[in-house]
Amino acid sequence: MTPRVHFRRVPKGPVVEPGTYAQWQKNSSGLLAECCCPNGHGGTLRSTKFKGNHDVDDSGVVKPSYVCTEKGCNFHAWVVLDNWVPIKA
Ligand SMILES: [Zn+2]
Repeated sequence: MTPRVHFRRVPKGPVVEPGTYAQWQKNSSGLLAECCCPNGHGGTLRSTKFKGNHDVDDSGVVKPSYVCTEKGCNFHAWVVLDNWVPIKA
């Protein structure tokens, strides 16, 4: 697994630039962020509180590690979402 990788924050909308994410907040489906892996594949982070697989702490650290679901992509890393805004409960 590669070392910690930082994703750069972009505005909500199509997230197509490698290594970026758009934050979602207070979404009833538990969607935390839309991401684009460094190899250019889209992905989503969904809260474990909504039967998803991930959580993001107040400093933007994603747990557990991020695995790109694109077939043939080997991106698997600890990811930090830069400029993450903590979600108030
Ligand atoms: Zn990928």
